[in-house]
Amino acid sequence: MSSTHKKYKTEGDKIVRLKKECERCGNAVYMAEHKDRQTCGKCGFTQYKRGRKAS
Ligand SMILES: [Zn+2]
Repeated sequence: MSSTHKKYKTEGDKIVRLKKECERCGNAVYMAEHKDRQTCGKCGFTQYKRGRKAS
C-alpha cells in the first residue's frame, strides 16, 4: 500500500460507481457522464447507455 498506484486503485472502487472507465484507454481514464451516453475525453469513444434507445 506504499505506491500511489495502489492507493488510486483503492479509491477507484468508489469512483467506478459514478464514472465508467474507458474500455479503450483503461488505465484510470474515465468517461464523461451524459444524459444518455458516456464519452471519453481522451480518445473520443462514446458508449450509449443500455436500456433506452433513441426513438
Ligand atoms: Zn478513451
